[in-house]
Amino acid sequence: MKCDKCGKQVWSIFINTKYEKLCDVCFNKEKIGETMKFEKYITETGEMGKHDIEKGGDWYDARLELEKVAKKAKLKGEVRPFDQYQGPYFTGGGVKIWLSENPGIYYLVTPSEAFEFDAEEIAAYFKKRMAKKPKVKVKK
Ligand SMILES: [Zn+2]
Repeated sequence: MKCDKCGKQVWSIFINTKYEKLCDVCFNKEKIGETMKFEKYITETGEMGKHDIEKGGDWYDARLELEKVAKKAKLKGEVRPFDQYQGPYFTGGGVKIWLSENPGIYYLVTPSEAFEFDAEEIAAYFKKRMAKKPKVKVKK
């Protein structure tokens, strides 16, 4: 997600009383200047439950979409609820896949890197990773 103030791409955001999404830096700057009460950290305000990603739930379509993306990349795992702002995410194969605010674009997060990919690029990334052969030491 992007910070509404500085445009920085961030993984967790804060919501102020004007319902702007802010990065930690911008949020803290505002907080210092104002005495208003701020909303809590997003993961505590917009809770999402398992029912949200089940049939009939608000995020069911998003779940199907993430499952499709993961399947295309031959990843095994599951879609889990997160919160109402960032939506559910896929977890499996040591990575996480999140929805972005752009339709058809996802965040692929590995333990060391994060990418902004479409479904094709995610599949290509794992295809390439699988093709990497382990280094073999040859005895002389
Ligand atoms: Zn910011």
